[in-house]
Amino acid sequence: YADSAMYLAKRSGRSKFRFYSRDLTIGAEKRLALESDLRLAVKRGQLELHYQPKVLLDNGKVIGSEALLRWHHPKMGMIPPGEFIGVAEETGLIIDLGRWVLHEACRTAAIMNADGLPPHKIAINLSPKQFQCPHLSQTVADVLQETGCCAEWIEVEITESLLLHNCEGVSTTLSQLHASGISIAIDDFGTGYSSLSYLANFPIDTLKIDRSFINRSDKRSRELVKAILSIARCLGQNVVAEGVETVDQEKFLVESGCAVAQGFYYSKPVPKSELLVANARPEASKR
Ligand code: C2E
Ligand code: MG
Ligand code: MG
Ligand code: MG
Repeated sequence: YADSAMYLAKRSGRSKFRFYSRDLTIGAEKRLALESDLRLAVKRGQLELHYQPKVLLDNGKVIGSEALLRWHHPKMGMIPPGEFIGVAEETGLIIDLGRWVLHEACRTAAIMNADGLPPHKIAINLSPKQFQCPHLSQTVADVLQETGCCAEWIEVEITESLLLHNCEGVSTTLSQLHASGISIAIDDFGTGYSSLSYLANFPIDTLKIDRSFINRSDKRSRELVKAILSIARCLGQNVVAEGVETVDQEKFLVESGCAVAQGFYYSKPVPKSELLVANARPEASKR
């Protein structure tokens, strides 16, 4: 957690010199504080989901979005997920937090898919820790029921590391989620412990090509993207290109036959209110 210690030291106005001179003890104390603050964050309504649109490259229409967690810390301001998801995972808080995320995202999906509106699938990031809980698929089913959300309106994003140990529990849970109508996406595809056998052994609907492949323009990276697109096409899987930032990147993706993209070029993650407004005026979401 050296990174988060550094970050917190910066935020609390300490100079780097002082940070280095007092080693990681400060980091450990701050981290402990972060942990107890995070425990209260759900109860105190400090968590919020932002939504980043996924765009059909064919016509620029928004077909869904990814729910991304934000924490408004009362003293430290907005803390990005990269700085607290790890703490939540280590402390087990991710279970309550993850349930809150599911509930909130499904509530939004139900609103976005109300009668007469075009379909909008909301993707929810799941931590491998959430799969250690044997009731995950039941929890998801409960949340769908509570929120009046259809399984078809959500997708779960999992990491390659989850599939690494080929654990029976994970396989069962994924099959249950999939059988209930929920889509399954592999996040950051190609950067973790990629194994082609995952694609044969698990019910995977979507590959999200990691940003690191998209933002490089060298020949080999581009060939890799094309190879991933080709695998997905053969297996009948969807592909989402992550982290698209430029028109050149988009142009390459269109030429390569990629159907869906997500990235700052189209939109940053936006608060729910903005997502709902864009949805109420479908023409506003077309480029
Ligand atoms: P991710 O699931 O791969 O999400 C994509 C991240 O890339 C988001 O960062 C998003 O804001 C950022 N991004 C999107 N487009 C662009 C772009 O064009 N350029 C660049 N440079 N970045 C882009 P964010 O919101 O900070 O989330 C970071 C990670 O935290 C996520 O990576 C995900 O692994 C995790 N995370 C976020 N929300 C949740 C959650 O509710 N539960 C769990 N378990 N993890 C979450
Ligand atoms: Mg994701
Ligand atoms: Mg990703
Ligand atoms: Mg990522």
